[in-house]
Amino acid sequence: MNIALIAHDQKKDDMVMVATEFATFLSRCHLLATGTTGGRLQNEVGLDVERCLSGPLGGDLQIGARLAVGEVDAVIFLRDPMTPQPHEPDINALVRACDVHNVPCATNVAGARLLLRELDWLNSGPGRAPTSGPVA
Ligand code: PGA
Repeated sequence: MNIALIAHDQKKDDMVMVATEFATFLSRCHLLATGTTGGRLQNEVGLDVERCLSGPLGGDLQIGARLAVGEVDAVIFLRDPMTPQPHEPDINALVRACDVHNVPCATNVAGARLLLRELDWLNSGPGRAPTSGPVA
């Protein structure tokens, strides 16, 4: 499974938190991330991540292009709704690409947990418990 991970600056701590919760599952996936987000996931969670350019430099567009050709199965995109972003058109393009290609996209922590839990469960096989997730 190919999962893309992107977090705006104010949401990077949340991304590290969610990725830590689901590290067992994520370590079995191919992970694609924007530059700075990917660096934090490598350094702080120990995940193997293919890093694209930083978001403001085109990383969102790189991920969108990969998604458009079927190379991304799910997107965790922790957007900061309170801060204007210089690359807003790129952000909208990526979310639009998810909608065009019917790829699930979680844009907040609650949605990310639901999506990752479901993907983990689907990947675990029938009758098996998910491998990771937040403690209830
Ligand atoms: P970054 O990019 O992970 O390189 O910070 C994310 C973004 O701002 O879109």
